[in-house]
Amino acid sequence: MIQEKTEKSELMLFGIPASPGIAHGCVFRFLHDEVQVATYEVSESDQEEEIKRFLEALEMTKSEIREIREDVAKNLGEKEAGIFDAHMLVLEDRALIEDVKKEIKESGQNVEKCVHRVTEKYLAFFDQLEDKYLRERAVDLRDISRRLQRCLSGTTASGTAFLDEPKVLVSEDLTPSDTAALDRSKILGIATDLGGQTSHAVIMARASGVPAVVGLRSLTDKLCDGDELLIDGFEGVTIINPSETTLFRYGKVDVQRRKLLNLVGEESSLPAQTLDGKKLDIWANADTPEEVSKALKLGCLGVGLYRTESLFLRTNSLPSEDYQYQEYLKMVKSSGDQTLTIRTLDLGGDKILNGWNQQKEANPFMGFRAIRYCLSNPNVFLDQLRAILRASAHGNVRILLPMISGIGEVVRAKELIAEAKEELSRRGETYDPAIKIGCMIETPAAVAICDLLAEESDFFSVGTNDLVQYLLAVDRVNNEIAFLYEPHHPAVLRSLKQVAKVASAKGIPVTVCGEIAGDPHFLPLLIGLGFDSFSASAAMVSEMKFFARRFSQDDVEKITLDAESKQRPSEVKELIKNFYEDRISEASVPR
Ligand code: PEP
Ligand code: MG
Repeated sequence: MIQEKTEKSELMLFGIPASPGIAHGCVFRFLHDEVQVATYEVSESDQEEEIKRFLEALEMTKSEIREIREDVAKNLGEKEAGIFDAHMLVLEDRALIEDVKKEIKESGQNVEKCVHRVTEKYLAFFDQLEDKYLRERAVDLRDISRRLQRCLSGTTASGTAFLDEPKVLVSEDLTPSDTAALDRSKILGIATDLGGQTSHAVIMARASGVPAVVGLRSLTDKLCDGDELLIDGFEGVTIINPSETTLFRYGKVDVQRRKLLNLVGEESSLPAQTLDGKKLDIWANADTPEEVSKALKLGCLGVGLYRTESLFLRTNSLPSEDYQYQEYLKMVKSSGDQTLTIRTLDLGGDKILNGWNQQKEANPFMGFRAIRYCLSNPNVFLDQLRAILRASAHGNVRILLPMISGIGEVVRAKELIAEAKEELSRRGETYDPAIKIGCMIETPAAVAICDLLAEESDFFSVGTNDLVQYLLAVDRVNNEIAFLYEPHHPAVLRSLKQVAKVASAKGIPVTVCGEIAGDPHFLPLLIGLGFDSFSASAAMVSEMKFFARRFSQDDVEKITLDAESKQRPSEVKELIKNFYEDRISEASVPR
């Protein structure tokens, strides 16, 4: 529950802890790329002035696009810069320009509203076209319309590149594509009104070590310009305008945490094993070559999860086969001799491209997502599969299929992989003909039929972020019910145990790759439930190894028995938290 309490002039708000750490600094209010469209009446005598504003905004937008085009051509190449030629064509379209002028005269309203109305009319037209290429042009038009609106209103884009000093980012909500566009070196911490612990924006914040608190409900309403904010990502607390005393108290927490991280850092090159020598496989969840290199330096076995949708979100497009191949190749090269597990596209849910021409869904997480989208759009899927296969010629690559809920999806995906291989053979391109294909186990259906899925899979990866939401019927990004999102729930523990047991009986390698895999508290319990392979963000790997060296198989058995005897998630949570704190505080006492 969210409570509030005032302390002198400071204001404390309680939300959901999303990424550990303490941050303090000036507030930067992050605005979504969506622009508010002003609406007002314009007298007949002022209409020419409105038309002039429109033409000036067009010119301003064109010069912005020219600059971006040059930048992209220099950094990514002529081909990628080509998409901005399409933007220029929209801006020079006589019919569109005339329509806006006509709308200004006929409606008697301001130019912003008229541009909005005309572009929405065009977008509705694009939406109902059969031709996929033409339908996708709607994305260009939407982007142009936003730019035009920004030029008209004189506001800048919502990015962080222009910040001159690092700040605490505050927003109503953050989407993964917002987060992908942020310059992380300019962000001290993140606090949002909405969101849940495993929303993808939060996962990205955690991977980059940025403290975050979400689900604060009314934080943005309570902030004024020039306010400072303190974020406690351990407890899920934020304090507006903290007093000196508060800063001192949190400073001490921060110092303690840093002390622990220093100890952890000193041991980061030691192997991943328990006190009595049981070996653990620690993989990395990594989406960029830099993250891969960092993880391998920490002794990770390879990449257990590369979420390829991050590439789609970064470019806000469906990138071509060649573009994807170049990106996957960079990931393969950074992985060296180690395995790179490339998960096929998992768009949908909270991972939506800006301006994506997709129908609004009532239940996006249960809707047109991941493998469902890919199997319905075989051309998009085949582009990706060919790009992955081409990259597989240069290293050890595995393919991982997301959100599997039935055997038919795996069989169909494998048919398309075979088709992609045939096409590459026809073209004379090389690939790994024996590439391994695995399934995400992240729906209750997949848990129930994992014996059947084992017949069609080379490996499993357990996605607990989704498994928890589907098993407990708790939307992972809805802060109203975030208190019900409980990975400690007996239903989750029983499901995990079942997957580990079946995978072991079938001889299928299995890794846990959801956020709990990187939460050190869970480590002994997951081992006790039958897992010895974990894929986590590089930011968590050293702490996991540090903790693993402080408990034995006896501890594992005891804590697992204890946890399985509990009826309530809160009891399990307390049990594993106390055990972690005991062992860590013993380790932190100077000897
Ligand atoms: C998961 O669901 O646990 C998972 C790893 O996938 P994602 O978080 O990308 O949905
Ligand atoms: Mg998932």
